[in-house]
Amino acid sequence: MTNNQSHTAVIALGGNALSPAGEHSTIADQFAHTRASLGAIVDLALDGWDICLVHGNGPQVGDELVRNELARAEVAPLPLGVLVAATAGWIGYMIQQSLENALRRAGSDREVATVITQIRVAPDDPALTAPTKFIGHAIPDERVPDLRERTVAVERDARGRWRRVVGSPTPLAVHEISVIQRLVQSGIIVVACGGGGAPIYHDGARGWEGLDAVVDKDLAAAVLARDLGASLLMILTDVEGVFLDYGTPRQRLLDTLTLAEAQRLDAAGAFGAGSMAPKVRAAANFVRHTGGRAIITELARGREAVRGAAGTTIIAENA
Ligand code: ADP
Ligand code: MG
Repeated sequence: MTNNQSHTAVIALGGNALSPAGEHSTIADQFAHTRASLGAIVDLALDGWDICLVHGNGPQVGDELVRNELARAEVAPLPLGVLVAATAGWIGYMIQQSLENALRRAGSDREVATVITQIRVAPDDPALTAPTKFIGHAIPDERVPDLRERTVAVERDARGRWRRVVGSPTPLAVHEISVIQRLVQSGIIVVACGGGGAPIYHDGARGWEGLDAVVDKDLAAAVLARDLGASLLMILTDVEGVFLDYGTPRQRLLDTLTLAEAQRLDAAGAFGAGSMAPKVRAAANFVRHTGGRAIITELARGREAVRGAAGTTIIAENA
């Protein structure tokens, strides 16, 4: 179903944009990064787009788990699913405040609101019992045995650092979609599916129940964009776009990527697992299911990319 009339954009912001990998961010740092991240959103708001923003929470939810572990003798720890909602609350607050200030400075009176979002997943999704998603900062070697003793899953990441890993089920549907739709259609810039949304499933006896996992924010953004009838999915990150031979002297930017090429390159391992691969899959899912436009680019190049002058655009076929 193509939706060419729609002027709705779903924009996914990287968790690293708000709290860069390797930095032990204070809240002042996180506000500073948030302010710096919002230029592209203000540009698109001024260009008249209806906007729904999705953000990651990998660094923040990892920090929350550490806080809960360290305080566990005094205060009962909160489970991961609840912490996803908690981080979506505080990051939503930072975005609401910073984005309102930026919009007013640019002469726009658009309003901003956060919807704490639940995301439906399958309770028997195999990803729930096989943790693969890295969250939080590097863990010093000497803390690893204690964590493992307490059955906290930790693995070495692609850079050889010990980090927590959690299950990351496939998002199926956005529970609050109709609320989000009404807000977006009335011109409000909505922050939704923060941290991928808090995963839930339906239990025959108890109704909706939470799960302890972290859904990939790019895959959640694609489901949201599909169900909102958006015409544009833009994934903003810290690289100019999708590269071939990434990380080698031969690396080159792909300005377009067809669905067939995306699938072939993904199968050949051309995109980083847990970093670029989910972005390409999310973008391809959206284009395949809606015929809409999907762009992957750097935070600062959002407006340029919408005009086709930057980033990687995922397209259905070669023209
Ligand atoms: P975000 O926080 O925005 O989700 P990620 O770190 O998860 O960011 O993903 C972006 C990273 O993907 C880039 O910084 C880059 O190191 C990595 N990457 C892996 N493969 C590629 C590729 N083929 N082209 C571009 N970037 C890639
Ligand atoms: Mg990521």
